[in-house]
Amino acid sequence: MISCQICKKEFDSDKQLHSHLRAHKLRMAEYYQTHFPRYDIYDNKIIKFKNKKQYLESDFNSRTNLRLWLKSITAEEAKEYCSKLLSDRKEQKELVYSPTQVELRSLTSPPMQYFNELFGWDGYYKLCSSLGYKNKHKIFNEIVAGAEYDKPEYMIFVDTREQKPLKFGKRTIQVKKLDYGDYAFSNSKVSCNCHIERKSLSDFIGTMSAGYERFNNEIKRAVEDEAYLVILVEESLSKAASFQFLPYISKKIKATPEFIFHRARSLIQKYPNIQFLFVNGRKESSRVMEKIFTSGCVYKQIDLQLAYDLKKL
Ligand SMILES: [Zn+2]
Repeated sequence: MISCQICKKEFDSDKQLHSHLRAHKLRMAEYYQTHFPRYDIYDNKIIKFKNKKQYLESDFNSRTNLRLWLKSITAEEAKEYCSKLLSDRKEQKELVYSPTQVELRSLTSPPMQYFNELFGWDGYYKLCSSLGYKNKHKIFNEIVAGAEYDKPEYMIFVDTREQKPLKFGKRTIQVKKLDYGDYAFSNSKVSCNCHIERKSLSDFIGTMSAGYERFNNEIKRAVEDEAYLVILVEESLSKAASFQFLPYISKKIKATPEFIFHRARSLIQKYPNIQFLFVNGRKESSRVMEKIFTSGCVYKQIDLQLAYDLKKL
């Protein structure tokens, strides 16, 4: 039973309580902020209310506040907080795999490189595995494109439906019908059957909202064929994660970044054969794509977003 903190009336569900709040002429935000006040640990301002779960689980109103707070405490305290962040998340969401850089950077969490500074080289994956996570990826030095693939027989296939094909310097492209993704390497053995789906930011948002079911089916087809799918978005992750501030997006789209990235994170946890990668624009897309195709199968073992953020991709 849940009881109304104002009149003590009891309800079976949050939903009933929430509609009852109208009787008190209260919005949900006011009700929770008044009767269950929670404050940002860094600046003591009341936690912004988006929904009950988010409100009760948030310690900070922004990633900036988290970062500034972590700077203000000792390394030991920071370690304790960061480790609890990961173990609470594992428990609450029943996660199996260590959160990837895209997951961390779309949550109120430090990025992976912060964990590695705090816990030492490879500290993040070690910490995750001590908390019971499975590591899909491992730490690495550099991704290097193999010179042996600089031959005319190694081409890039572009799907027939791709509207604006990327250009790849000297490398030949060949238009072909692909079962999933928009790009693939002509030698699927060399690339471990890597397929890359190129998306503008609005395509990505569309796929994660109206196109979600269709996209799930596409991933399932890739799983059946033991293919690997990289979803390459032509926008930086920081801009993508706050697209409500980009007028050319927010005018057209009603969905929130929270909703879109929640779905992206579920896919990352559900399918070990996919990765999302956000890069700065189209030129970067073709550069990174060619590198992924020509560096052997190493891309599967590494967190591509982390590699990109560290300028190792
Ligand atoms: Zn009441």
